[in-house]
Amino acid sequence: MHRLIAIVLAALATSSAASPPLPGPPPPAPPPRLLIVIGIDHLAADLFDEYRPHFTGGLARLARGTVFRNGYQAHATTETCPGYATMLTGAHPARTGIVSNRWFDFTVARSDKAIYCLEDERVAGSSYRNYTPSPVHLRVPTLGELLKMRSPQSLSVSVAGKDRAAIAMGGRGNDQRWFWKGRQFASDLTGARVPGAVSATNSVVAAQIASHQLPLDPPIHCAAKSRIFQVPGGKTVGNGRFARAGGDASAFRSSPAFDGATLALAAALVAELRLGSDTSPDILSIGISALDDTGHAFGPGGQEMCLHLMSLDRDLGDFFNYLDQQGVDYGVALTGDHGGLDIPERLRANGVAQGAWVDASLDSEAVGKAVAAKLRLEGRLLWGDPMGDIYVDHALAPAVRQRVIAEALAVYRAHPQVEAAFSAAELRRVALATTTPDRWTLAQRARASFDPARSGDIYVVLKQYVQPIAKPTSAVSTHGSAWDYDRRVPILFWRPAMRPTHRNEPISTVDIMPTLAAMLGVPVDAAPIDGKCLKRIEGIACPPR
Ligand code: ZN
Repeated sequence: MHRLIAIVLAALATSSAASPPLPGPPPPAPPPRLLIVIGIDHLAADLFDEYRPHFTGGLARLARGTVFRNGYQAHATTETCPGYATMLTGAHPARTGIVSNRWFDFTVARSDKAIYCLEDERVAGSSYRNYTPSPVHLRVPTLGELLKMRSPQSLSVSVAGKDRAAIAMGGRGNDQRWFWKGRQFASDLTGARVPGAVSATNSVVAAQIASHQLPLDPPIHCAAKSRIFQVPGGKTVGNGRFARAGGDASAFRSSPAFDGATLALAAALVAELRLGSDTSPDILSIGISALDDTGHAFGPGGQEMCLHLMSLDRDLGDFFNYLDQQGVDYGVALTGDHGGLDIPERLRANGVAQGAWVDASLDSEAVGKAVAAKLRLEGRLLWGDPMGDIYVDHALAPAVRQRVIAEALAVYRAHPQVEAAFSAAELRRVALATTTPDRWTLAQRARASFDPARSGDIYVVLKQYVQPIAKPTSAVSTHGSAWDYDRRVPILFWRPAMRPTHRNEPISTVDIMPTLAAMLGVPVDAAPIDGKCLKRIEGIACPPR
């Protein structure tokens, strides 16, 4: 499937919208002319460590740069939207305002009160299910915005599978922004001409969707992971090979081939927009999204994740090789938006005895009913998932709300699967931590996810290795917790002449932005950030503090 890049570029070359070829290699300059930032959805540090010896393509190339194997999405709510929003803002969710994929706002007219992390709910017709994508909730600028303020000729382009990846990385500064919508790549930016790269990719992808896919052939180290597990509800996982019938767009969107399509579109946009071809540096953000589907659908511990990572490694290799052939002077940073937790059955088979499905009694509505019975109240009291932010009905009188919060805290704290529960009032009194993220307390992790206007009234942390899915359906595995299997992600920096460097010290994804800003010579004084420029990376000189 990694031939997609070649097919799209061939299609682009024959289309009338194609640009003339790029000029020859530019003379080497200290900052790269094109900075590429890649966020891979669900790329846990545990996965990178495990599969690193098997990478031979793009991930192997980046592993020969500067590798921080102990990167952290330091905050507690390790979801996609907050994770991507840390990468190019240098700020924790408490500062970006992107605290989770969804929050509740009791002032909006919609009945479910749910708000999508990157929507503009003021637009007529926008709803949680059918939202209007927008960066309006992002409270801080991205690196692309700062770069363009300093260098107006620079271009900032985002390409991703998920809209939230593209928008959270690009912010308000994108010249082009493309993400998957249903059956093709689309944009939320209006008025822009559709580049030939997008039409070419979409027509190649349409043909891919139409044709069926035979099962992928697992290399021996992936076949070694093939072991079938049955989860409650009857689904079996562990030996999948991504076969799919022709015409199934949603299966294509969740397959390794889709990540190849995202990279094909990125490569085609580099060619057409001539990114990195002049002295104003450009920034290209790429969100790799289908790997997350593999994590959710099968858990990260089986043959499926192995096959997907090997495919992604090849596709990234093709992508970088193409840029080399075009003589583009580029640098790369790569990280994950969160990690993941395997299914309890496989955790236990691998010796993690605490692996368990969350108890149905921790459903927020169920907890709300228990509280209502105790306090003799009517109606739904609590909104939220079995963990993370829990919201108490804002229509209640303040004194009643306080009693509900106190009683719900007691219910959560008494449950054997709950590690900790904090009230918003408690989190307000916690200072944002400044120590290394491996040493943060649970309260400090929750504080980094806390925004007074958007967070819940209660924050629930389940015990380690509790899978927060009460009834597994198509999704059998997830992430989002304050534990390190969800927080730890690799952080990689690469330039062509870099000496391979392996670093073990814990760093945070909020350090990526100030480090890349130093690489590009962009001052970050004007931006409210939490991260710091990482010292001793070859070719990057941090500004004096
Ligand atoms: Zn994600």
